[in-house]
Amino acid sequence: MDAFETLCHLAGEMDWESDEERTPCSTAIPASKERHLVLYHAQTPQGKSVRLLKTLLSSACERDCFYCPFRAGRDRARATFRPEEFARLFIQLYQAGLADGLFLSSGLVGGGMRTQDKLMDAAEILRHKLDFRGYIHLKLMPGAEKDQVLRAMQLADRVSINLEAPNAQRLAQLAPHKGFFDELLQPLQWVEQIRRSQPAQQGWQGRWPSTVTQFVLGAAGESDRELLQTTEWLFRSLRLSRAYYSPFRPVPDTPLENAPPADLLRQRRLYQASFLLRDYGFRLSELSFDADANLPLEIDPKKAYAEHNLRQAPLEINRASLSQLLRVPGIGPKGAQSILKARRERRLSDLSQLQKLGVEIQRAAPYVLLNGRRPLHQLSFWGLNPA
Ligand code: SF4
Repeated sequence: MDAFETLCHLAGEMDWESDEERTPCSTAIPASKERHLVLYHAQTPQGKSVRLLKTLLSSACERDCFYCPFRAGRDRARATFRPEEFARLFIQLYQAGLADGLFLSSGLVGGGMRTQDKLMDAAEILRHKLDFRGYIHLKLMPGAEKDQVLRAMQLADRVSINLEAPNAQRLAQLAPHKGFFDELLQPLQWVEQIRRSQPAQQGWQGRWPSTVTQFVLGAAGESDRELLQTTEWLFRSLRLSRAYYSPFRPVPDTPLENAPPADLLRQRRLYQASFLLRDYGFRLSELSFDADANLPLEIDPKKAYAEHNLRQAPLEINRASLSQLLRVPGIGPKGAQSILKARRERRLSDLSQLQKLGVEIQRAAPYVLLNGRRPLHQLSFWGLNPA
């Protein structure tokens, strides 16, 4: 394999690894008849759209996580780049206008510290030798040290480590040789400690990187409540930007090869709930769970909240606070702000006024009052059925 084919091989492995930024670009780069280098659309923390190369530096690994195709001892072709070799290859793609950003991870070889050093060597060569100023998302390795985390934060726009499970008991069922607190959670905590205690000017381009994490969904018997409890804590205590729920898919020749794949509707409900926690000011205690502590699949979590709390006691749009408005289906953060602004000038009495402010009126109408009146009849006016 030449270097470009090696890159196609390693980048192809990421299709399995990560749920993050998973939308492949429509234009894959042909490398040979058999291989294509697939890039991904991604948004930087500043909201800029980039074509992201997602790859491993090495697909060899000395750990034996139960769900993972790269686990040690599994019969699989492996490939490894040296940091300088990889950095020079990536910069060729960048200079050819084919990729604007990089997501770099690796299997563990020689321990977490040594592997982390290799990832950072590649990033450092890109930043300081090859003058790459574009987006880098750098993985933190289980067992990385605090000074390595700081160094990663000085090179990357985003850093992450996959917690894989919501707590130590669940992780033991997935990856018994990973330490939940000392190897996985600790690096995320260091990131936040550094962000709070050291000036952001020390970060790459004067900013500290954002952080994300990923859970394997559905492989350890974990409930949605467990996942969202940890997610809520990460949002509030460590200012995590996003939690990803990567649906478990059984991999042949692993201890979990006979376990069923995760339900994609469950993944969707979890994302909806996590956005309520992150962007809408919801607390975990406001979400509805079934007897197994899972989100109901048949209803989206915001609608479930509204059915329990607003159906019989609709909210007066002209008096509601921002936090109350954000609890109405069909009203997002922008719409809520627009309502508050518009209310300063006039009373809102008509669904068409709400629609102009960005509200999905069909979803909102069953749960609100406009000037003391339920607006449901207005929907049928327009031939729309109340939700
Ligand atoms: S450490 Fe990462 S790459 Fe290695 S087996 Fe575990 S999940 Fe897979």
